[in-house]
Order: sequence, then structure tokens, then C-alpha cells
Amino acid sequence: MSIVELRVPDLGDFKDVTVVDVMARSGERVSVEDALITLETDKASMDVPATVTGVIERIHVKKGDRVSKGTLIATVRTEEVEQTTVVAVPETAGDREQPYVETVTLGDEARVRTSGTPKAAPAAAAKQPAASPAAQPSAPAAEQPAARPAKRAPEPAFDVVVLGAGPGGYTAAFRAADLGLRVALVERSPTLGGVCLNVGCIPSKALLHAARVIEEAHSMGAHGLGFGTPSIDRNKLRTWTTQVVTRLTNSLSVLARQRKVEVIQGLGQFVDAHHIEVAQGAKRRVVDFKHAIIASGSEAARLPGLPDDPRIMDSTGALELPEKVKRLLVVGGGIIGLEMACVYDALGTKVTVVELTDDLMPGCDRDLVRPLEKRIRARYEQVLLGTRVSGIEPLRNGLRVSFAGDKAPEPHLYDRVLVAVGRVPNGRNIGAERAGVNVDERGYIHVDAQQRTNVEHIFAIGDVVGAPMLAHKASHEGKVAAEVAAGLKRRFEARVIPSVAYTDPEVAWVGLTEIEAKQKGIDCGKGKFPWLASGRSLALGRDDGFTKLLFDKESHRVLGAGIVGPNAGDLISEAALAIEMGCDAADIGLTIHPHPTLSETVAFAAEAYEGTLTDLYMSKK
Ligand SMILES: Cc1cc2nc3c(=O)[nH]c(=O)nc-3n(C[C@H](O)[C@H](O)[C@H](O)COP(=O)(O)OP(=O)(O)OC[C@H]3O[C@@H](n4cnc5c(N)ncnc54)[C@H](O)[C@@H]3O)c2cc1C
Repeated sequence: MSIVELRVPDLGDFKDVTVVDVMARSGERVSVEDALITLETDKASMDVPATVTGVIERIHVKKGDRVSKGTLIATVRTEEVEQTTVVAVPETAGDREQPYVETVTLGDEARVRTSGTPKAAPAAAAKQPAASPAAQPSAPAAEQPAARPAKRAPEPAFDVVVLGAGPGGYTAAFRAADLGLRVALVERSPTLGGVCLNVGCIPSKALLHAARVIEEAHSMGAHGLGFGTPSIDRNKLRTWTTQVVTRLTNSLSVLARQRKVEVIQGLGQFVDAHHIEVAQGAKRRVVDFKHAIIASGSEAARLPGLPDDPRIMDSTGALELPEKVKRLLVVGGGIIGLEMACVYDALGTKVTVVELTDDLMPGCDRDLVRPLEKRIRARYEQVLLGTRVSGIEPLRNGLRVSFAGDKAPEPHLYDRVLVAVGRVPNGRNIGAERAGVNVDERGYIHVDAQQRTNVEHIFAIGDVVGAPMLAHKASHEGKVAAEVAAGLKRRFEARVIPSVAYTDPEVAWVGLTEIEAKQKGIDCGKGKFPWLASGRSLALGRDDGFTKLLFDKESHRVLGAGIVGPNAGDLISEAALAIEMGCDAADIGLTIHPHPTLSETVAFAAEAYEGTLTDLYMSKK
């Protein structure tokens, strides 16, 4: 066992650098590569990792300190010292060394981010005998073996090339840059943000907000507040949605610039396992990389056999709000179809939804879908379940749609048809085979818990790796891939991923569902709180929602949650956190929630399970 001093490595041109973060703590065990501190100058930031394994005796720097080469960072008690990484460096003023102390500089492990060449000098290493302070008074830095660079093959231009700039891709690129890597982000579209920002989550939520305002204004008519029939200017609505999207996508470009992520516009395709060719018109550029992260996302699935007619739209076409849509058929009763149906209904279109299976939003618990189904059955022209579109005939005055199935209606004429039958992964447009990356027959790329494909230095994230196809899953995976590429020990370890339909009412769920519990034979407990007993819900003019929590019967830990009602999508986060943290019913029930809020209903559902709820009378069986 020995005490080793870990010191700041050669920082090249940098002196007097600020410590912006101290990750290591006294008494903690550190391993080789664990980051000890982060240094930052106006040009670069750098994690300084440990080069020995052991227990930290003492941290000698704090946030805000200014350090230079040789400043003592930490003393570590090691069982074994790697002979090749131990060198002696000069003592800096103020550092008092003790007998039997070995000193280590951390040069070759430091990860530097600059616009040019990394500045940290590689540390060649030579073991010193246990150095007495007198023996190493102030040898000049140039005489240190640490200054000798190792021989290396030519470096690729980029540490990481990210293919696709959706929520998965831009997150991965930004995280990798923040970790000091040289990053390129390849995107075929002129704007960053992928489906989510440009033609998905964001524009749809802007339109759903407009729909909500229309509906709330209308519903207040019954309570003495009349606004008259809304006048809808589709042009202005489109302009507003575009402005929301543009603000976000423009700020992504700024964030990329600030991080010195090089954005390369064009269609990217692998040439081999270390090169991607980016094509934009006649222009071609080949970029080479150490690591690649595939984040090519997904696109709307098409129904085979449909005529080629511009009145048959996917979600992107529907978001453009075409004029004169008196009658709309939405094919597909999943989240995207139902959200768009909600928008068109509020804008005054007669909507029909047709779904092949017997349920709307397959996979979600039936009780959660019921309030939504009840509401839309009362408002929409038709909700056809267990029914298939068997043909579409384009006519001058509309699209004549035929249906098949036990309850199929007669053919009907619609102005527009929205096909929202799922999404297919973009695994086939990237030349993956030339890099040796396996893509399955449906276009998915399979990855391990570190987001690695079958080719170790090539990662994949987001929709292209599979369900759930959600932006927040993509961005979390993006961070994991970037951190693993930067040499950190990370895995995708989220226990649960919440799902939300931003319909009216909103439907949100996370973790175990009752359907899943039944399939897996899990005997779970349930606490449910109906919103007709929630003061806040009634004050919003709604009594159709509820909050449900599922618990492990033995430990009372939360296993799953489902919420239906206004803002369910925001409320579900508390349940997700509870599951991640292993909370039990008492943890939630005893947490004081503000009154009157919808968030109280989460606590009430926990109390309902515990038998401590007073806002409802629960008969004791
Ligand atoms: C209408 C709609 C509403 C949605 N609402 C929500 C929601 O509310 N919440 C939610 O979580 N999710 C929602 N989603 C899903 C969400 O948009 C996706 O899950 C998410 O965008 C996936 O992110 P990603 O990074 O994997 O890929 P994407 O966002 O699909 O981005 C992939 C990017 O890669 C680019 N690309 C592909 N191939 C290449 C290539 N060869 N070269 C260069 N670039 C390439 C594409 O142009 C695209 O920009 C919605 C989707 C739609 C369609």
C-alpha cells in the first residue's frame, strides 16, 4: 500500500486554469479514468481523470481554485501502483510532501476540448523510487519524461460523427462536445432538430394548445363566459407554429456553434467503418471518425396499395393545416392519429377515426383510454374499431374510402385522409452494411445497454433502435452513447420511460400497466383517485380524469402509474421519479403536495392505497 499524489498534468499553453468542478470526494474509492476535476479556460474544458485505483485520502483543490501543471489535486491510498503511470513532478510552492509519497501526473488521460489540437501532453511514465522531498526539489518541467509524446497513427478528423440531428443526435453531439471530443453532426435537412422539432412533438403541441384554448373558451359558455364562435385564421396559426419551431431549431444551431460542433449538411452514408460520405447535391465530402453515433430516426409508415393522391397525408402533411377540410378520416387510433384528430376537431372538421384493432391506443390500460374514448365518441363523426380501410378511390369531389371488418360501414367520402399507422426506422438509408453494422429486415439497428451496435465503435440511438419511439428516450440514449464514446462507464439504466398522448383529455402512463401485470402474472395493488373529488379539476371544468398508482403488494413500492385528465403529461413525471427512486406509497402520500393542484391526486392515489385518504370515503371491506 502506498500514498500517491495526483497532480495536474502538462496543460500545454495553459497556466492558471480555473477548476470548475470537483467530482472526487475524500474517502471515496476512485478507479483509473474516473474524473477527478474539470478545468476550464476561455478556449477549452478538460476532465482530469485518475490514473490509479485507490481510496482518496484528501482533495487539495476546490471549485474556483486556479491551477497549473503540477498542482496537487488529491492524495490517494493505493494497494497497487501501476508502475508505468507513476512519475515524479516538481513540488510547487506551498505543497508539502511527505516521506513514502509517490506522485502521479495525469497527462495522457486528460480530455481536452479546443477548436484546434488537444493541448494535454501525453505522459510517458517512469517509476520513481519513493521520493523524498529533498531529492526532487524543483526539476524543470522539460526534463520530465511526461513531456515525451508517444508515436501515433494519424488522428481522424473527428472523435465522434453523429448521423442525424434529431433529439437523439443533437443531444449526443452536444454531450460529446461537452466531454471534450471533436464532433461533427451530419443532417440531411436544412434545420437541426429532426422529426421532433420540425414535424413532430413541437408543432403538434403548438396546435394542440390552440385546440385546447378553443375548447376551454367554448366550454366556459355554459358557465357564463361567452366568446362567440372562434375565427380561425389558418395562415396565422401556421405562421405561429413555424415561429415556435424556428426559435427552437435556430437555438440548436447556436448551441452547436457555441460547442464547436461542426454541422455538415447533406445525406450521410457510411463508406466503411471509419468514414462517412456526406452528399449535398453534387457536393461530396468524406469525414473520418473514431466513433460514429447513428441517430437517423424514423419516418411515417405507408399503407400499401393506396393511390398516389396529395389529399392522402401523413402527419407532416396534416401539420400543414390544409384549407377546406370539412371531413377528415384518420387511419390509425394511436397517439399521433388521435392528437391530430383532436386538432382538426377543434378547428371545426368532422373527424372519423378508424382503427384496425379493437382498442384505441393499443398497449395502454383500457380504463385510462375510456374517458378519452367517451369524449371523442360524443364529438367525432365516427370512431370505428376493429375496422380496416380496404380501398381509397380518388374522386374529384373527395376520397371515397371503403372499409372492411364485422362492423364496417358503407364507403364514405372524405376531403382528406390522414394515414397514421406507425413509423418505420431509417436504418436502411445510411450504408450501414459498408461499416459492418447489422440492420434487421425491418430497418432497426440492435444495440447493447451502452448503445453499441455489433461494431464496437459505432453506436445507435433513438427511433432507429426501436420502441418506444419517443424523443425523451432518444435524448437519454444519446447521452449514454456520447459518454461511452468519451470513455466513461455508462449504460442506459432508466427503469421506466413515460408515454403521453396530448389529446383531450391527456393520457399518460409509466412503468407497469395493468395489461402487462396480467400478462406477466404480477399480483399488484392499486390506488385510484377519481378527479371528480379533486377541487382543482372541478375548478377547471373537468371531472372525467383519474390518477392510478400500481404497487408491489409486499414492499408497497410504486411499480406503475396511469393518469388521464388535463395536464396528465406533466403530472406523470412525479410517478416516474417515484419509480426510479424506489418510493413506496407512504413516501408519496406523506409528501406534502400543494393545494389545490392536480398533483395532489398523485398523493391521494397513494393514500387511497394506504387507507389514509380523507378526501373520499373508502368503504372498509
Ligand atoms: C406528429 C408527431 C408527434 C410526435 N410527438 C411526440 C411527443 O409529443 N413526444 C415524444 O416524445 N415523441 C413524439 N414524437 C416522436 C418523436 O418525434 C421521435 O421519437 C423523435 O423525433 C426521435 O428522435 P431521433 O433523434 O431518434 O430521430 P428523428 O427525430 O427522426 O431525427 C432523425 C434525423 O436524422 C436525419 N437523417 C436520417 N437519415 C439521414 C442520413 N442518411 N443522413 C443525414 N441525416 C439523416 C433526419 O433528417 C432527421 O433529422 C412525435 C412524432 C410525430 C411524427
